Amino acid sequence: MAVSETDKTPAELYDELRARCKKAFDKKSVKQIDLAYEVASKAHSAQLRYSGQPYIIHPLAVADILLDLGMDAQSIEAALLHDTVEDTNITLEELSELFGEDVANLVDGVTKLGRVPLSTKEEQQAENVRKMLLAMSHDIRVIIIKLADRLHNMRTLDFMAPQKRRDIALETLEIYAPIAHRLGIRAAKEELEDLAIHFLDPIAYDDIAKKISSVGESGVEFLENNRRRIEERVLEIVKKARIDARIKSVHGIYRKMYMQNKEFSEIYDIYAIRIIVETVAECYNCLGLMHDMYKPLPGRFKDYISTPKKNMYQSLHTTVIGKEGIPFEVQIRTTEMHRTAEYGIAAHWKYKLGISGKSNMEERLAWIRQLLEEQKEAGDVREIVSAIKSDLVPDDTFVFTPKGDVITVPYGSTVIDFAYAIHTAVGNKMTGAKVDGRIVPIDYKVKTGEIVEILTSSQPGKGPSRDWLNIAKTSSARTKIRSWFKNEKRDENIVEGKAEIEREFKKNYIHLTEEEYEKFIEGLAHHQHCASVDDLYASIGYGGISLVRLMPHIKDEYNKNYKKQEPQPVKKTETRRVSTGGVTVEGIDSMLVKFSKCCNPLPGDDIIGFITRGHGVSVHKRDCSNVPEDLAHASEPERWVKVSWNAQAKQEFRAALQITALSRIGLMADISMLLASMRVNINDISSRDIKDGRSLLLMTITVTNVEHLRNVIGRIEKIDGILSVERQGF
Ligand code: MN
Repeated sequence: MAVSETDKTPAELYDELRARCKKAFDKKSVKQIDLAYEVASKAHSAQLRYSGQPYIIHPLAVADILLDLGMDAQSIEAALLHDTVEDTNITLEELSELFGEDVANLVDGVTKLGRVPLSTKEEQQAENVRKMLLAMSHDIRVIIIKLADRLHNMRTLDFMAPQKRRDIALETLEIYAPIAHRLGIRAAKEELEDLAIHFLDPIAYDDIAKKISSVGESGVEFLENNRRRIEERVLEIVKKARIDARIKSVHGIYRKMYMQNKEFSEIYDIYAIRIIVETVAECYNCLGLMHDMYKPLPGRFKDYISTPKKNMYQSLHTTVIGKEGIPFEVQIRTTEMHRTAEYGIAAHWKYKLGISGKSNMEERLAWIRQLLEEQKEAGDVREIVSAIKSDLVPDDTFVFTPKGDVITVPYGSTVIDFAYAIHTAVGNKMTGAKVDGRIVPIDYKVKTGEIVEILTSSQPGKGPSRDWLNIAKTSSARTKIRSWFKNEKRDENIVEGKAEIEREFKKNYIHLTEEEYEKFIEGLAHHQHCASVDDLYASIGYGGISLVRLMPHIKDEYNKNYKKQEPQPVKKTETRRVSTGGVTVEGIDSMLVKFSKCCNPLPGDDIIGFITRGHGVSVHKRDCSNVPEDLAHASEPERWVKVSWNAQAKQEFRAALQITALSRIGLMADISMLLASMRVNINDISSRDIKDGRSLLLMTITVTNVEHLRNVIGRIEKIDGILSVERQGF
């Protein structure tokens, strides 16, 4: 992955670009390109990239990408100038005078798309998409320049702040890559996707990249052997043919592994061989030859020549098994189909296609017009974003109901999405699902051709679970789940919302007295346009208001108006029977060590000691509310000492848990059975009913350390009916 910008100077880069332009364009055009470079580099002269390099590097790189795509001289001029109107004193009038109306319009179009539309807010994203589509329908070159602009920004995204990186990467994956795909510009699409995955899911990306490179030499050799074998045979029956071999892109493999849930070893088309011939008849001849040479995998043959994809892609695909027992994909197409596959709409300029090319382009543009028209009817720009997102993802999944009806759901949909796609009521009543007759987990991702049966319950009051919000893939399913919670579970939402606020406040060290809290929450409800505090709780409870997103605002308010300067007094501590040997106090030998009752530290917790008067050192969790955040400025800083867990710490500790659950028979038995199976001792347990058919369980258990406790909590959380499990004493 390229993570650094070039080491070359702008002048060197321009010399290279110019040499390529001289081959591609006439003298007059090159002169205009010279002028564009001169104007742009002067205008950007005071500006730097995030990488610290001269800004002009960016427009130069964008122009270079466009030259690769075979775009015309005007596009190159516009690329060099694309950020001048937005970022410098240059005006459109000046550009129009120097470079003509067309180039000025291109720059204007790119500028209007927003230099980098960072917002992930759906509405604003929709607005950008609308602008983009409008610009596209006027002059498609605008969007190709914008794609090149985004591609270079993605290549150099390392220099941005992490959150911005993710925002841009997500937008790239959801909007720009699909548009590149729709316009058929394969190289741009694949690189955009790979870069986006690199930033959005770096662990998976590295994993796949490692797996690909572990295929290593033997893989390369395997590919090359087969390529040669095929070349020999193909040239016997076809005069002119080109055979390419390649390993597929990270994103292609990522999609299959993470969205279709396949193992790396199950992906047949990591290896791909491409046969490019002159005529359609030769394509079919080569297909016959391939199936003669190798054993084809059943169900993998696709004829995109007789039925092209929506983006005009044409090719024959088949997967065959090599002599080594390794499957690989073969794509067979004509030169013209190959141009379309690689450059898509850009092929129109690259190959100066005649009338057929133009009609080809008309068909592509028809798609944009159609989207714009649909949007007019929908009257809501957000519709168009969801259209882009879902419509452009190439493969929908087609699933059958037991009666044989076909339901189309987006790629990667779970049985939950399927249930809600049939009918909202089916989703709300779902208790489980069967796929091809077998019971599957609720997060099971459906695949094309499967028969999915949704199991429902007629029991009133039974509804979706909150976890489904994280499992469902489609926004329509999530919206329906949320609205169920909003309408059906107001009381529960209020409790949930309130609990969430308390949790977040603790986590963020927000401490308020009761009166302060009331005032604070009223202010917050007002700020969020909620009619009452209960409304605020309820909205947070069903997910209509995201508390996490609100936290920066809350912290600001708190720091401004409520934050106390004085540290709170340390509460009394209690000597624990466990020996003091588990903790080492820095710089002090044989000190009496006690564990504070307020936060009950466990081995593994980050801890700190406080020298008490005459009772030794009391040990607190570092994030205990009784420990000042800023120790250096605490009232008696010298009394806070560093402590750490030592080898003897592997003893038994008590931890108190507070469990909220839906009341049901056998719940207590389930919990105690689980703990017995994990060899966890229960010291005491009590339970009482709270409102809405829920109960609160308080229990103390004995564990060995934090890791152990986390395990126990994780397992309890999975028990049916458990709403939350919390460790007491924060
Ligand atoms: Mn730019």
